[in-house]
Amino acid sequence: MKIYADNAATTPVLPEILSVMLPCFTENYGNPSSIYSLGMNALRAIEKARSQCAAAIGAKSNEIYFTGCGTEADNWAIKETARRLRREKGKTEIITTNFEHHAVLHSTQALEKEGFTVKYLPVSSDGYITANQVSDAITDNTALVTIMYANNEIGTILPIKEIGAICREKGVIFHTDAVQAIGHVPINVTTQNIDMMSVSGHKIHAPKGVGFLYCKNGLKLDRFMHGGAQERGKRAGTENTAGIVALGEAITLATTGIEERAAKIILMRDRLIKELSKIPASRVNGGCKDRLPGNVNMSFIGIEGESLLLNLDLAGISASSGSACTSGSLDPSHVLLALGLPHEIAHGSLRLSINEYNTDDEIDYIIETVSKVCAKIRAMSPLWEDLTGGKGGFERFAPLLTPIK
Ligand code: PLP
Repeated sequence: MKIYADNAATTPVLPEILSVMLPCFTENYGNPSSIYSLGMNALRAIEKARSQCAAAIGAKSNEIYFTGCGTEADNWAIKETARRLRREKGKTEIITTNFEHHAVLHSTQALEKEGFTVKYLPVSSDGYITANQVSDAITDNTALVTIMYANNEIGTILPIKEIGAICREKGVIFHTDAVQAIGHVPINVTTQNIDMMSVSGHKIHAPKGVGFLYCKNGLKLDRFMHGGAQERGKRAGTENTAGIVALGEAITLATTGIEERAAKIILMRDRLIKELSKIPASRVNGGCKDRLPGNVNMSFIGIEGESLLLNLDLAGISASSGSACTSGSLDPSHVLLALGLPHEIAHGSLRLSINEYNTDDEIDYIIETVSKVCAKIRAMSPLWEDLTGGKGGFERFAPLLTPIK
């Protein structure tokens, strides 16, 4: 059995999306900046995609700027907004959280080196922040608030509308990284008080290498790439026509019928959580109240995330421990550490991210396989032996875990 349960890392391109992309390589291959009809056709295809992206989030077409990925949209929004507000208004403070994606955290860290002050709001032990925390942190010196819509590792969904309202009230620009949320929860930038928002294509069945930044009309957006006049002079470079067309189609599909799809996925997610929680000394990371429909994140003490993943791969299951972008690093996830978890628990995490293409049979197989693999690894684990063999030490983890029977 081959099961893909890592949709938060990336998704396959759907056949119906591939079929709208292919003509961009073979027939409609003109340069969108060329004035002859082949070029104009490509430009029309891009503008159609722009209006699809805008419609999907309650924006206007001229508020969408295509980028090469979600990371680029984050870098653009955060760095250029911060630098502009320092230049124009002398503001030097940025507010974010301590569990953002590295596309945000490394951007704010780069700005710290340029002299900005960054406040990293601490998330609660179940992975949330409140609008009050944001309100308390804002000062006259705040240039920008950037807070993710939903966390990529633990799937918690933050109170974006309320945070946006506070920022509006205090006259501070609000950017949100919606890379994990788009297509999974309904988003309307207008009613949710969002000034800037980052989106990526490859999480919603478009190919890798395309995304967009939404920037509300009236808000100044500095040029990010210098060169040609593409993206209304803000982001130079010949457009990725096929990727953009795919993103337009993908976002339309992903934002249509969200509730029905989510209901089906939540049933599978909750079954995974319920059954995997029966594994002794395990825990669910992140609260379940406001959580992405397809996200499961669990820790199993005595088990290294890497060996769990390798064993699952041998059994045909693709999953992840933490975010794909940091796999290869042996450091425990900064998201799990932000929840206040000790390294021993943060190391043994498993993220399963499922979608509507997963089946009940696959969920059964995942439950059975994860349980077996955990038992097998623990049988060989000296840490597990110490914890359960009376050497002590388990007491300090016990309150965070299901009991060892
Ligand atoms: N932001 C979040 C929350 C993500 O999960 C990711 C990718 O995993 C990104 C940003 C980066 O997006 P991209 O891979 O398109 O650069």
